[in-house]
Amino acid sequence: MNAAGAARWIRHTAHLVSADAERLTRLDAAIGDGDHGLNLDRGFTAAVAAVDALPGDTTPAKVLIAAGRAIVSKTGGASGPLYGTALRRAGKALAETGGDELDAAALGAALTAALEGVQELGQAAEGDKTMVDALVPAVTAYEAALAGGADIAACARAAADGAAQGAESTVPLQARKGRASYLGPRSAGHLDPGAASTALILRALADVTMEGGGDAWSGSS
Ligand code: ADP
Ligand code: MG
Repeated sequence: MNAAGAARWIRHTAHLVSADAERLTRLDAAIGDGDHGLNLDRGFTAAVAAVDALPGDTTPAKVLIAAGRAIVSKTGGASGPLYGTALRRAGKALAETGGDELDAAALGAALTAALEGVQELGQAAEGDKTMVDALVPAVTAYEAALAGGADIAACARAAADGAAQGAESTVPLQARKGRASYLGPRSAGHLDPGAASTALILRALADVTMEGGGDAWSGSS
């Protein structure tokens, strides 16, 4: 995946988030304050604008760092700093391991760094009913596919499936982090909105890696 591919990931995520914003907000209304769809829609719209403003000689690392910065500054709620940190950490990992063109191993290292960033900042473990419950199985599935020799598209698809299953697994859980934890046992029986949006982000990655990332940087097109 090259810089154009990374930019397509951000744009496609923005598209999926915007299409699903009402559902995310509804999920958050059930166990939080009903702003998750709006928060992320605003954040990823800002991320797309930041990515579109990058010069033509950019790299995948710079694309993700720019997107992460925009999300931190424009997304409200707990999820803004968490997703912004995730993207910035992913970008920093790519700056170390990847060049202009990422391979499956470099993208895996980036996803692992994103997860570490989220857990460092949010202090959530698996089972706390947060985005971590989608991100951990995504990274685990990605790494398992990678170890089995899968290409980048198959690794990303495994991650997307892992994230979707991980998100579903939050339904029976009682929240131990974030706003939903204020509800105590009443938070059980609902899908965690952040886990649902993490599944969208990984779905977007699977979609764009399946298309292939061989074409040149295309700016705002
Ligand atoms: P807020 O809860 O501040 O309104 P959002 O509605 O945008 O923020 O995001 C809520 C989501 O953020 C939750 O569904 C959960 O997945 C995630 N979240 C909240 N706190 C944490 C945390 N400490 N660690 C990881 N994820 C968290
Ligand atoms: Mg909220």
